[in-house]
Amino acid sequence: MRVTEQRSPQNTTLSPDKVRDWHSLEAQEALELLQVDQKKGLTNEEAGRRQEAYGRNVMTPKKQQSALVLFLLQFHQPLIYILLVAALVSVLLGEYIDASVIFGVVLINSIIGYIQESKALAAIDALSKSMSAKATVLREGRKQQIDASELVPGDIVLLQSGDKFPADVRLVQARDLKVDESALTGESVAVEKHPDPVAADEMLGDRFSMGFASTVVTYGQATGLVVATGDKTEVGKIQESISGAQDLDTPLTIKIKEFSRLLLWVILALSAAVFLVEYLRGADPADTFMLAVALAVGAIPEGLPVAVTIMLALGVSKMAKRRAIIRRLVAVETLGSTNVICSDKTGTLTENQMTVQQILAGGETYTVTGLGYRPEGKIQQQETQTDLSSNQALAQCLKAGALCNDSALKEKDGQWLIEGDPTEGALEVAARKAGLERRNLEEAQPRQDTIPFESEYQYMATLHAGERPVIYLKGSVEAVLDRSNKALLPNGELGELDKAHIEKQVEQMAGAGLRVLAFAMLDSAEGQTQIDHEHTKSDLVFLGLQGMIDPPRKEAMEAVALCQRAGIDVKMITGDHAVTAAAIASQIGLQGRQENGQLVAVTGKQLQQIGDQELPDLVEKTAVFARVAPEQKLRLVKALQSRDRVVAMTGDGVNDGPALKQANIGIAMGITGTDVAKDASDMVLTDDNFSSIEGAVEEGRGVFDNLTKFIVWTLPTNLGEALVVLLAVALSSQLPIKPVQLLWINMTTSVLLGLTLVFEPKEPGIMDRPPRASNQPLLTPKLIMRTLLVGVLMLIAAYGLFLYELNQSATLVEAQTVVTTVFVVVESYYLLNCRSLVRPVGQIGWFSNMWVYYGIGIMFLAQALFIYTPFMNMLFGSSPLDAMQVLRIFGAGAVVFTIVSVEKQIRFRLGNKRRAAAQRKKQLREGEAQ
Ligand code: ADP
Ligand code: MG
Repeated sequence: MRVTEQRSPQNTTLSPDKVRDWHSLEAQEALELLQVDQKKGLTNEEAGRRQEAYGRNVMTPKKQQSALVLFLLQFHQPLIYILLVAALVSVLLGEYIDASVIFGVVLINSIIGYIQESKALAAIDALSKSMSAKATVLREGRKQQIDASELVPGDIVLLQSGDKFPADVRLVQARDLKVDESALTGESVAVEKHPDPVAADEMLGDRFSMGFASTVVTYGQATGLVVATGDKTEVGKIQESISGAQDLDTPLTIKIKEFSRLLLWVILALSAAVFLVEYLRGADPADTFMLAVALAVGAIPEGLPVAVTIMLALGVSKMAKRRAIIRRLVAVETLGSTNVICSDKTGTLTENQMTVQQILAGGETYTVTGLGYRPEGKIQQQETQTDLSSNQALAQCLKAGALCNDSALKEKDGQWLIEGDPTEGALEVAARKAGLERRNLEEAQPRQDTIPFESEYQYMATLHAGERPVIYLKGSVEAVLDRSNKALLPNGELGELDKAHIEKQVEQMAGAGLRVLAFAMLDSAEGQTQIDHEHTKSDLVFLGLQGMIDPPRKEAMEAVALCQRAGIDVKMITGDHAVTAAAIASQIGLQGRQENGQLVAVTGKQLQQIGDQELPDLVEKTAVFARVAPEQKLRLVKALQSRDRVVAMTGDGVNDGPALKQANIGIAMGITGTDVAKDASDMVLTDDNFSSIEGAVEEGRGVFDNLTKFIVWTLPTNLGEALVVLLAVALSSQLPIKPVQLLWINMTTSVLLGLTLVFEPKEPGIMDRPPRASNQPLLTPKLIMRTLLVGVLMLIAAYGLFLYELNQSATLVEAQTVVTTVFVVVESYYLLNCRSLVRPVGQIGWFSNMWVYYGIGIMFLAQALFIYTPFMNMLFGSSPLDAMQVLRIFGAGAVVFTIVSVEKQIRFRLGNKRRAAAQRKKQLREGEAQ
């Protein structure tokens, strides 16, 4: 009873808010103050109670742009300024209706912009939140993974390199701990940390006994006691939100903004010139002002920037469906022009479903039967099961695999699963097949200490107590052989180590695509309780080899083929053995430099010897890089980029950060990736699968296509409108269209018509064409030609009908209504043309995007209201039209549609012919080469 009382959070002793100087207390004192056992952690019940008292471990989000500011920002556009001035002038001139229409349009435009922008922001926000951070804690005496938001003061958290501190912790145990605190202090050199108390008045950067939320473990391991969570943490206090606000600017949107700004000045200058000319001609200043405004309104594509942002944001959710979480909006755009993907092997290109198939120990070779993690199978030689007692080396080799091991093999509903590293899981399974139960082994030889596996060192070692205290070590063949000088013989005696012979056997196993691990042991010193790299430097006893298969992922093979057809080079970068890597790469179908019909793998060692000058050539040619240290990935990325390559690079470890940042698209693994890698990335794969990268690239291309379609669709209208106004000035005729009518067109059509292109499915063959060059302008000469063509056609249709109607004794108001409607109708027809950039609409399927027709339907309805309702007539100065007039407008639209269709058809045919000719040439060349 007393115990529960004492544990209740109301109890005064348990008040982490009060005690500030955790860093100056002894670790033990801190544990006592927070009433927790370092070995057991909190109970779930107690954790629940504390959560009620202290709240969840989340930071109140930094006040983002308030809704009001976001809304007001919508007015911060040059065009809006022009419109507001126009509205003001209209008021001064007593044109109250015009003034209120202009003002209404501004308001509606801002509301639409606001809704769309906040939707885009919310979508991106939701995605970044969906990747909640995890933490490993000790609760109820068991290690478990929980959401970092569930942490409470008093929790015992376990950390290793690559982890982010999920809260402020007092270190209670640390091993070679190095922490990057740049997120908090700005100091980028990693700091060594240890549990010894420091003086109470030390500054944040010198509190070596603490780990602070949002800083990152770059090396070693630690156990920490949570002392502050959420807003109470040091980062929480300075409110330096870690991820920060999403940036919606991408090179493309910036380009478009620049383009719009340029256009704006051109148009303003033009408008001013028009105003001047008309004024000097003696026209009414009010009229000429309106003319100038009309020109500006018509010519500026105001819907463009918003549309681009929306399309990119939509790409984000499309990619999420394909298991690629976008962390930065730029990635959507860059993915479309990616032309080389550098991928990890293990787990990304392969299944990461390891099974030991071959064992070499004491000079004997054994095969292992059975597949997957089910621990059923035999270790045999020539079909007869082996007795472990016949070969001590084999027994020790299997034991090393089971004991120097952090994974956990579990059976769940008849399924055998691995928690942790599949490589280690496979070793445990192999031991079990020989009847060696991990639990029994650990009881006899309890583990004292560990050197965890790090890619840099390529091995892991554990120290075990027991009758005969030993160190077991496992790792890459190179790492183990370097450290060994004897071998264990079947009879348990020590013999000579024939490294050359072993290397030959490794080549053979690796050549079949097996991932080979080597094992060794060492008698430990009397009373030794700790190990580090010093202890395992030399004199180890070599035990044997275990070779495991890790089959290539089927989807990955297909995705690689797709990428290569799409002109995207795929390169494998792995820490694994060169021969294993090359064998798997060949199975997957990577294309690259070959020798004797085999893919050539370049190793990390070879890379070291190559200067920056020759590197790019080598990297271009080679598809497989093996035994690569994470730091070398950065060099590879840079070498590729020096050849103007747009590089996507995967990574999962702590040391992959710089390469991920340097790559045009840094891709982190969602399952096996460390927090550091995820933070440095632009995109995270939720399934670690290569095919998700390919999927994202495909979507990226689709988004970019749709963007271009929108632009090609919208620009001719602006051009046509400007030309109509300019022609009227040149002919000093009456204005064929009123400024408010131009506003009506531009505001309604871009939303109702243009945005339906967002839903345009990806074009067939999207992965059959080469990647877009990253410096390729948005509009190719072909597309510029089409824009000019359609702009001029719009001018002819609009102005032609204007003159015709006047000639047919229509009123000016009627003629202007006709001109407005011509634009709307021609745009609707042209929208069908724009559904594909190259293919005629018949080729992509008339009804594959029904949104286009819904949009056109609603647009026509709105236009009918514009023409036939007295209210709209009053607002926009329009007037009802008769059937013949409407028919003529549709006729004009049909003519424009037909002309553009013919133009596209011709270009498409020509394009096909060129492609076919190029294909034939290529085949001929290849034929000659052979
Ligand atoms: P990869 O997973 O691409 O092979 P790593 O850097 O993770 O690259 O591993 C490099 C090498 O280290 C592996 O080829 C293997 O020989 C060895 N290795 C991998 N995992 C472990 C582990 N858990 N313990 C010991 N050695 C390992
Ligand atoms: Mg690995």
